Amino acid sequence: MTGTVPRAPLARIVIVGGGSAGWMTAAALARLVAAGTTITLVESDEIGTVGVGEATVPPLLDFNAALGIDENAFVAATQGTFKLGIAFEDWGHVGNRYVHPFGKYGQLTFGIPFHQIWLRQRLLGVAAADPGPFDHYAISIAAAARGRFSKPIANPEAVLSGLAYAYHFDAGLYARFLRDRAEAQGVARVEGKIAHVEKSPDNGHLSGVLLADGRRIEGDFFVDCSGFRALLIGEALGVPYRSWQHWLPCDSAVAVPSATVGPPAPYTRSIAEKAGWRWRIPLQHRTGNGHVYSSAHIDDDAAARALTEGLDGAPLADPRVLRFTAGRREKLWEKNCVAIGLSAGFIEPLESTSIHLIQSGIFRLMALFPDRSFAPVEIDAYNRWLIDEYENVRDFIVLHYHASTRSDSDFWNYCRTMDIPDSLAARLELWRGKGRVFRGSNSLFTEESWTAVLFGQGIIPHDADPLTAMLPVDETTRFLTHMRTIIAQAAEAMPRHEDYIARHCAAAQRS
Ligand code: FAD
Repeated sequence: MTGTVPRAPLARIVIVGGGSAGWMTAAALARLVAAGTTITLVESDEIGTVGVGEATVPPLLDFNAALGIDENAFVAATQGTFKLGIAFEDWGHVGNRYVHPFGKYGQLTFGIPFHQIWLRQRLLGVAAADPGPFDHYAISIAAAARGRFSKPIANPEAVLSGLAYAYHFDAGLYARFLRDRAEAQGVARVEGKIAHVEKSPDNGHLSGVLLADGRRIEGDFFVDCSGFRALLIGEALGVPYRSWQHWLPCDSAVAVPSATVGPPAPYTRSIAEKAGWRWRIPLQHRTGNGHVYSSAHIDDDAAARALTEGLDGAPLADPRVLRFTAGRREKLWEKNCVAIGLSAGFIEPLESTSIHLIQSGIFRLMALFPDRSFAPVEIDAYNRWLIDEYENVRDFIVLHYHASTRSDSDFWNYCRTMDIPDSLAARLELWRGKGRVFRGSNSLFTEESWTAVLFGQGIIPHDADPLTAMLPVDETTRFLTHMRTIIAQAAEAMPRHEDYIARHCAAAQRS
């Protein structure tokens, strides 16, 4: 028991905001309504949502599965496509291209990571043993390159077990899909603009929100999903925002949808520009395009021109500019309020991590779900976990900018030479020696992800793991040739991505 507050279950949960964060949270908690808790979600049509956010990472499969969502129905409802990874163009240098795939490269060999075998072979510098591009050893990359898609299979002997995937989708349609589910389970939606946030004079906890039309919604627990405004955690509770702009100088984006041209590719494209990068995300009904840039290095008009000149299909709307500051709140849970989504922090969409961080926040909230005592030890555990995860993502994104040899603009000169977080510097030092790489605790990104970007952007370690000496070179040469061949054959045998969608997901839409 803490103070005079009795331990008691929460009776009233208020979610502020109806973007992806708000409706994902509402859908995940909706079953509480049947247990007697009221859940009210407040959103404002006048303010709207951020309206971008179309590419995801594989753990979203777990979120949907936890909610009992049928995948085919979900892909159909959100005009979704499948995503096998991200193709990075012009990042390491102009003309450089690599893919960060979901899933695995090759196979483990006597407990030695696959990338070490490839590295040893490459460092030998012997033409007969040349392993060729690292990209050739991932089934997800081989499938993406051929415009093919199928599900992974569980048998670890099979090449297809190394495949993993996520989705591209219309985030607005996803929020709508989740809203229908949440409302069907009793979540109450209130449309209106919050004019004032009320706090208890006793302990500074939030007690209610007052709408502009005079309605008042009271609660015991608040989830701030109000987007960049951070109405509760920032404005009402005064939790400061920690900027990472010195490491991630991009602070703006201009976005425009365009008409689909040809079948949708099963991967995202990220094309480096002189002061940032462009994304291209293929959905069923349109292509999402954006240009993320540093406003200190390029103005809005020039950024919009670079975007529209690079479109394949005709634009379907006027370009829309968004501003942001990369960073996070000092705390993501304060008193009786947890911030989820853009109110908690934002790391630019280079690796499609925002929706994932929403999901992580929700799962962690569920793991530490409070009663009315709001135990500080639980709140601290939440903050530690999420902050760790945000910082892991930050380091991975900073790596893309820093590990470039580009010197064709002030922007790249800055990124290439800037100080980097100590945690990333330590990682790079470990990698440069013998190609050692380890997944961080609470980290989304696996060893394969780090390896993809490090090799992809041309950071080749000085040595390979000494244990690779256990494997004779002629044996590993044969093994690598075999791997390349069976990966290419397996990819060729997969259905075309558009055929897979038409067969499985369009059928779900009709039923
Ligand atoms: P929002 O969508 O901004 O929603 C805020 C909600 O709060 C709205 O419903 C609004 O009406 C409500 N609200 C605010 N103030 C009030 C008020 N006073 N009264 C009542 N209601 C209020 N993520 C990915 O995972 N993949 C991507 O590819 C990706 N691309 C992105 C590209 C860009 C340029 C940006 C900026 C973001 C991108 N994101 C991406 C992030 C993604 O869009 C967001 O994480 C996601 O949409 C969650 O937003 P949100 O729900 O936190 O906030």
